[in-house]
Amino acid sequence: MKFWRKYHPDIDAADPRFKQVSLIYSVLLIMTAYFAIIGTLNVTLFHAPEIAFFDYLGLILALLILRYVSQGGNFRIASWAVIISIATILLAFVHLAEGRNYSLMWVTILPPFAFFLLGRRDGSWVSAIILGYCSWYLYQLINQQVTANLGLGALFNFIEVATAQVFLFRFYENSRQEAYDQLQKTAITDPLTKVFNRLHLDNTLNAVIAQANRFNQPVSVLLLDVDHFKAVNDKYGHFVGDKVLIKLCDVLRETIRETDSVGRWGGEEFLIICPNTNQQQAIQLGQRIIENVRAEAIENDIHITVSIGSATYMNDGEDTIDQLLLSADQNLYRAKHAGRNQVLGTP
Ligand code: GH3
Ligand code: MG
Ligand code: MG
Repeated sequence: MKFWRKYHPDIDAADPRFKQVSLIYSVLLIMTAYFAIIGTLNVTLFHAPEIAFFDYLGLILALLILRYVSQGGNFRIASWAVIISIATILLAFVHLAEGRNYSLMWVTILPPFAFFLLGRRDGSWVSAIILGYCSWYLYQLINQQVTANLGLGALFNFIEVATAQVFLFRFYENSRQEAYDQLQKTAITDPLTKVFNRLHLDNTLNAVIAQANRFNQPVSVLLLDVDHFKAVNDKYGHFVGDKVLIKLCDVLRETIRETDSVGRWGGEEFLIICPNTNQQQAIQLGQRIIENVRAEAIENDIHITVSIGSATYMNDGEDTIDQLLLSADQNLYRAKHAGRNQVLGTP
């Protein structure tokens, strides 16, 4: 259960901040529970009130940061606040205990938190600095013979564990990030043609229209359908038909602007979303696409043509996304009936 969702109703699972927010709340809850339990144990069972003081300080900090994020605070700042709090308390513990009471063992909990909350780069150097400092401090203790039973063996073991921690968590965080990126990409891509899928087109169109409303700009869409594609499949087979669609998408990607998006609307139909583009510019783009598709030989001298219906959102308070798509569909239908291999906008 994601109890925090009631504090952040605008962050859904598709939002890139979702993972960060889940992590920060989980870490804060773990912090709260840990410091409360360990602090109480230190007071009652271990009779170490001076260490319990830092545990309760950690508990208070965790609750304050919880309050900060739940009231709309910045997640990056909260992440750093968590790491700085944990690091400070751990270092205070190490100094207070002068390396005893397994305090150096506790420092090794820092890397997972740092990597989870700060990411690969910042997690690496923060962990390296804290663990490096503790190694140096331990060396001083041994040198000055402050603490009995702490010898070079303890130092070497600490450095080995610390180094392994940093490299293992770095490796783990790398693979997790790569898997996450791959998953994100797969979720929005059409597996055959590698252009966006229908889901991502819907999301993009919503975002582009919201932007257009804010800045009072037009948005155009082009709905494109391959002419007589069934005949290509019938004559050359489905496999070649697939290759034709892949090649067509290469041409589309090369023809549109950087700010335009192209995706597969279904079967052999594709939608191109053009932000800040009026009807005349959309028709020009449609004509360029038709020219380029006609010019490119696709697989074994197969040539195809496409028909395109264009529609423009004018932001005059009347249009809706559904109406925009309906107009594009109707104009595509008219282009087909007017003889195919052409682009038509709303008359
Ligand atoms: P029109 O000019 O009127 O659009 O004629 P058409 O033959 O293109 O239209 P129709 O809707 O009759 O046929 C579309 C064909 O597209 C039928 C379907 O098998 C084929 N198709 C849809 N998706 C794929 C695909 O992923 N791969 C292949 N090879 N064919 C596909
Ligand atoms: Mg079709
Ligand atoms: Mg077709």
